[in-house]
Amino acid sequence: MAVERTLSIIKPDATRRGLTGRINARFEEAGLRIVAQKRIKLTREIAENFYEVHKDRSFFEDLCTFMTSGPVVVQVLEGEDAIVRNREIMGATNPVNAEEKTIRKEFGETVEANSAHGSDSPETAAREIVFFFSEVEIVG
Ligand code: ATP
Ligand code: MG
Repeated sequence: MAVERTLSIIKPDATRRGLTGRINARFEEAGLRIVAQKRIKLTREIAENFYEVHKDRSFFEDLCTFMTSGPVVVQVLEGEDAIVRNREIMGATNPVNAEEKTIRKEFGETVEANSAHGSDSPETAAREIVFFFSEVEIVG
């Protein structure tokens, strides 16, 4: 086990319903520390760059429209095995398939509007953290 950092995004469907505090409580109760956090509205360009890995997928355009439809809360979570741990706390991409008591099961609306994003590997986490945060904004 190692202390890791991962990028998390509370998505527009969740900020719209005022779920930021409840979702943050899930992370903290699971032992993940929120070591950086800001509420922003993504531009189309930022969303397209962030999700570039999905640019050939059928859902790419709709996903970018959704992610720019309202505020998001971008954050860095830190803790033991934070990358995998956060994915467990979020649950499966499609809320229908997510385990009970996960964020996506309890709060997700659809496979697209699924309330939270989490980096899926150490390489992705490294890219995604510097995409949104400078070193001085991350306070462990
Ligand atoms: P995330 O990257 O947001 O943590 P994930 O890694 O579980 O989610 P990805 O395959 O990376 O899932 O997809 C990125 C996002 O694209 C999903 O979280 C969801 O919002 C959207 N998405 C994925 N699959 C579909 C789909 N079949 N239809 C519509 N939107 C989708
Ligand atoms: Mg992903």
